[in-house]
Parts: sequence; C-alpha cells; structure tokens
Amino acid sequence: MKQVVLPSHVIEKYNVASPRYTSYPTILDWNRNQFDLSEFKEQFQNSFRKHADQPTSIYIHLPFCESLCTFCGCHKHITKIHSVEEPYINALLKEWELYEELIGQPIVLEEMHLGGGTPTFFSTSELRRLLERITKNTTDQVNFSVEGHPNHTSYEQMELFYAFGFLRISFGVQDYDPDVQHAIHRVQTYEQVKKVTEQARSIGYTSISHDLVFGLPKQTMHGIKESMEKTISLRPDNISLYSYAHVPWVKGTGQRGFSEEDLPSGVEKRALYEYAKQALLDAGYLEIGMDHFGLPREPMTIAMQTNSLNRNFMGYTTAKTTRLIGLGVSAIAEYPFGYAQNVKSVKEYHHLINRQELPLFKGHIHSATDLELKGHIKELMCHFSTDIEDDSWIANHWNDFSPAITEFVNDGIITIDNRRIQITPEGKPFVRNVCMTLDPYARKKVEKERFSKSV
Ligand code: SF4
Repeated sequence: MKQVVLPSHVIEKYNVASPRYTSYPTILDWNRNQFDLSEFKEQFQNSFRKHADQPTSIYIHLPFCESLCTFCGCHKHITKIHSVEEPYINALLKEWELYEELIGQPIVLEEMHLGGGTPTFFSTSELRRLLERITKNTTDQVNFSVEGHPNHTSYEQMELFYAFGFLRISFGVQDYDPDVQHAIHRVQTYEQVKKVTEQARSIGYTSISHDLVFGLPKQTMHGIKESMEKTISLRPDNISLYSYAHVPWVKGTGQRGFSEEDLPSGVEKRALYEYAKQALLDAGYLEIGMDHFGLPREPMTIAMQTNSLNRNFMGYTTAKTTRLIGLGVSAIAEYPFGYAQNVKSVKEYHHLINRQELPLFKGHIHSATDLELKGHIKELMCHFSTDIEDDSWIANHWNDFSPAITEFVNDGIITIDNRRIQITPEGKPFVRNVCMTLDPYARKKVEKERFSKSV
C-alpha cells in the first residue's frame, strides 16, 4: 500500500511540539499540588471494591543498566554492580505486599509488563524470586511482556519468562548503522539481534517486537534503508517506529553525547520516517495506532481492526484492564479515578519502602471533564476517530474548538460528520495535534517546546 503524504507546507505547519498522550491529562498537567497520599489510598480501596470483578495490570520498573545509551529518555540507574539486585527485588516484593494489605485480598493479574532500565540486568534467580511471588494468584488468561536488551538477554532468562506465561518480548534495536550506534553509545550487531530473536521464537514467544527509532544523530537515508532491510529480514511480529525525542532540558546530560548538528533536520527526519513506514507497509505490516506496526495475524493488529485496542502508560495493549499498579522506581499507576507516580530515586524508593510507605510522590485525581476528554483522546490515539456528538463539555465549548477543527478539515488531517472526528490516512502522523485541540491544558500552554516534535 502506497502511503499518501500531505503537502510539505501542511506538514511543516503541524510539526509542532506535542505530547505522546500515553495518559490524559499528560503527566506535566497532573494536579500534583492536590495529591494527598491518604486520599489516594482511600480512592484506591474504593475503586477496587467497586470494580472487584475486573482484572489488574501491573507495570514493574527494573531501572538498572550497565551502560548509558546517550539517546535514552527512560528512568534508569547506571551501574555494573549487581549486588543492587537482591535489595531491589526485596523492595518490589514489599511494595507489592503493601498494595495487597491495602486491598485486603490477593490480587489477580491479567497483564504484566517488565520495563526499565534493563529488566534482563537481573539474574535468572532474582527474576524467578520476583515472578513467583507476583504471579501467585494469576490465572491462565495472562498478557505478560518484557523488554530485552539484545546484548544482555540470555536463553535462560527468556525460558524463565516463558515459563511464567510471557509470550511477548521486545528488543531495543534503534538502528543498525555503526555510526549511529556509536553516537548513541549503544553498539549491538545484527547477528546479536538475530540470535535473540531466533532464540525467543524457538522458545515459543508468539509476539516478538523490535523497537526502532528515527531522527537519531548521524542517521542517514542510506543507513535507515539497511536497518529496515535487516529488520524485515528477521520478520518480528511487531515493530515500533519511534520518533527520537530530543528533550535534553528534561533528561539532562544523558542526551548530550552528541552535538545538535548530528541530528537530522526536520525535513530529513520526516523523509526517514516516510521511508521506514513505506518499507514496513510494502513488507506486509499494518499500521497500529501511532508509531506501531504489526503483522496481520498479530493480536495487536487484530485489536486495531476490531476497535478494541487500548492504550496506557506501557503503550498500546490488547488488555482491557482499567487499573494498572506501578511497582518500582518512577513507575506510574493508572486507575479509574486518576494517576500516581513513584519516586524517581533508588535511594528514596528504598527509604520509603523500609518505612512501610507506598513510595508515591505525585498523582492526579480526575475531574468529570478529564474523564470525558480522556475517552476521546484514547479513541483518537487507538482508532483514529471519536464521536463528540453527545459530549456535554465539548458541546459547551464548541466555539473554542470549531476554528481549529475547520482548519484540520481544510488541511486534510480530519473529516467530520455529525461531530464524529475521523483522522484521514495521511493525517495519521498528526493525530497528536488533533488530540491537543481537545486538550484544554495543552491549549493554554505558551511554552511550546516542552514536548518533542510530532514527526
Ligand atoms: S536505552 Fe535502555 S539500556 Fe540504554 S540506558 Fe536507556 S534504559 Fe538503559
């Protein structure tokens, strides 16, 4: 399928700073000053009682990495000292117990994601200790996934995860070009990625994902062509194609291992994306939401086609859970009533856990308007359309939206029929811009460069 691309002046117009909307409100717009741990606990307990029959998701953040990749925007702690493993797993298990005590009953999991950092920094025995306890009450119907570093994921670790019900594994590839790999301080060969991909497949993983990034320093069209060829030759079930988020003012020195001149310009970056996307479409992958591609038989692709795709802090998911407990440093939780995030420092995390306290430090309690708009933004991000006909808040503020909506229609980004917004195929890269129009927090912002650019 040949992608239709908007005229360059339209692309330039919408290539503005925009959030990724893994949550609404975005984390920068949480009413954090109003966050109160006692109120959070009460809301958490009430929510569990009210939705007792609903399954639970969990995100576990394993923050350690042996070496710093200079493009990285994750919360990580760089160390080669593996004695950090045991106390960290102890703390995670203690945090889990604190949640079980709060609920007063065992927690049944439907979905789990291990992210980082590098989850496979941990030894097989420590990972087993964690998983044995966390999955004590799970049923067979699980959707478990883990992030693996191609250089630091052993056959034994993958066998262990598989034995606990993990069927999804994602490998961070970024780009195969040696110049790019050196610039981002992340050197891994095609042979290494091939090896772990084939091992995962032989163990029985049914969803193997490769994460690629466009817009990286020193990335060229020649290099991305080779990277796409190599990626497609390994036939991963899913491919994420992320835009490199150059936000050094947020992440500090971790992203300053190269100069600004090494970054492809806006036009070059867009050409890299369009090439990579077309290569995936030509190879039979289908576009899933924003930045994701899947083979037609993949559950995520099917969820996209059947309008049942979901999105949370872990990204796109087929799980329908409405509550997501976050364990570990910096982990974010999502509940029907709002969000909460754990402290970001390993030291502070241990300190609070040792005091038997939930290590949360900020959060957000939804207003009725937040909940209305959250639904629309999720629909747009997952299915590229939403029906705003019966939305009271939008109806009352229609005069504020209408000029921007008309402009999107005139520019070919959306169509609108009886207040049903439908993103056009060529408008998909700008779904975040449309979400921003429905986002009153974003509309108020004057400091546009708080977020990375859309494309
Ligand atoms: S990209 Fe992954 S391995 Fe590299 S520093 Fe970030 S979290 Fe660690």
